[in-house]
Amino acid sequence: MSRAQNYINGKWVDGSLGTLDMVNPSYDTKAGEIARSGKEDVDAAVKSARAAFEGEWGKTDAATRGKLLYNAAQLLEKHVDELADLESKDTGKPMKQARTDAKLIARYFEFYAGAADKLHGDSIPFMNGYTVYSQRVPLGVTGHIIPWNYPLQMTGRTLAPALAAGNATVFKPAEDACLAVVRAFELIAEAGFPAGAVNLVTGLGEEAGAALANHPGTDHMAFTGSPEVGKLVMKNSADHIRPVLLELGGKSPQVVFTDADLDAAMPVIVNAIIQNAGQTCSAGSRLVIQKEIHDKVVDELIKRFNNIKVGPADTDPDIGPIINKKQLERVEQFVARAEEEGAAILAQAQKPAGKGYFFPPTLMGRVNNDSFIAQNEVFGPVLTVIPFEDEADAIRIANDVEYGLIAAVWTRNNGRAHRVSNAINAGQVYINGYGAGGGVELPFGGMKKSGFGREKGFEALYDVTAVKTVIVNHG
Ligand code: NAD
Repeated sequence: MSRAQNYINGKWVDGSLGTLDMVNPSYDTKAGEIARSGKEDVDAAVKSARAAFEGEWGKTDAATRGKLLYNAAQLLEKHVDELADLESKDTGKPMKQARTDAKLIARYFEFYAGAADKLHGDSIPFMNGYTVYSQRVPLGVTGHIIPWNYPLQMTGRTLAPALAAGNATVFKPAEDACLAVVRAFELIAEAGFPAGAVNLVTGLGEEAGAALANHPGTDHMAFTGSPEVGKLVMKNSADHIRPVLLELGGKSPQVVFTDADLDAAMPVIVNAIIQNAGQTCSAGSRLVIQKEIHDKVVDELIKRFNNIKVGPADTDPDIGPIINKKQLERVEQFVARAEEEGAAILAQAQKPAGKGYFFPPTLMGRVNNDSFIAQNEVFGPVLTVIPFEDEADAIRIANDVEYGLIAAVWTRNNGRAHRVSNAINAGQVYINGYGAGGGVELPFGGMKKSGFGREKGFEALYDVTAVKTVIVNHG
């Protein structure tokens, strides 16, 4: 069980607004409680982070920071089963996915532990009589707001690089799911960071979230979630003149040419939309298929979609429930509107009985790329199929959305693979594969309305640091 408290200045403390119940979406039952926080809790957390940055944590050298991150990685790794169990109950993820996510939070801390003392500046040639060098310095206090779809993974993804670079952090997870995150913080707290380096404040978006986004005391805000809230975070940051990182989702195409290895592509295409019940910013939600193989691919997909097992997270299904009733209704409305606009349901898996918030994986054909469903993020297991004529048409359709997060190109033609990849506007492009966000090592983030800034890989460290240039006149 995890506790209903915040972690501020090295201590576990109650939220000033009481507690909030968390729901298990597989059964519509209570899964636990979290602290409900507001302005005063966030203010205490930001002040504690500032004091840490100006105090012991700010003076901690890079190698020691790396060791602390590594301690956290080992503690998290030791508790993978417990974290996975909490994550699965809280989000409705099948246990297999929850275990992957629990391992990944440890892996993020491990990766950035190794990176902490390898963040070099440059030596810059200048006029005679000068030596010039640059340093990568931390920004100070970083604020982090994450959504509910991958709580454990996103905690590691946003916090570990900020800490490795020497920032003090204030972190607000989503109210819809964060029980495993609170438990992970207990383990991170055990790793030995000085008080105030890591702070956790849980609660509602409009209370704790808004208080953090509005707080004048942070030097950077990292936000993953909806475009609407992302804009608010950016506007607030404009008032305080501080950088932001925004990760706002996608409408990612998988482009399949006639010469693709369909046996390899088919299971990957299905998994890219059903993983996490489609509630993945980098879900492969638009299948763009060359006309000549359209019917063959669709026939195969119909068979596969009809056989996907949907059920409560603890029954080892292929996919679990949607996070809550509101999101379930949102997905249902998307499909109803698509049908009104002329799209057809080609296949739909069985919906299980019970009180869980289930939406069966759905394959939709006769989809026009201008339609609402082809242009907007469903955040559910709904795959739309759109045929194309030739390479130019494929590129046009792939780019004809406001988002630009990730994409895939399936072809055996090497030249075409690179031409199409070069032409697609997305932060990551897979050739003959699809990694829904890719690995810890791979820079990840959006183009266009998907947002900006990069997380993951070494690149993430650049977002939470500034370059300081030192010009030495030694005559
Ligand atoms: P959201 O943007 O409302 O919530 C994301 C985070 O922002 C949560 O921690 C929330 O507490 C916080 N938040 C909410 N209001 C805030 C405010 N006024 N100020 C500061 N923080 C605030 O997302 P949601 O309502 O949970 O999901 C809605 C839609 O967003 C989804 O259907 C999906 O399309 C999209 N989404 C995208 C991602 C992604 O990974 N890009 C993740 C989750 C949701």
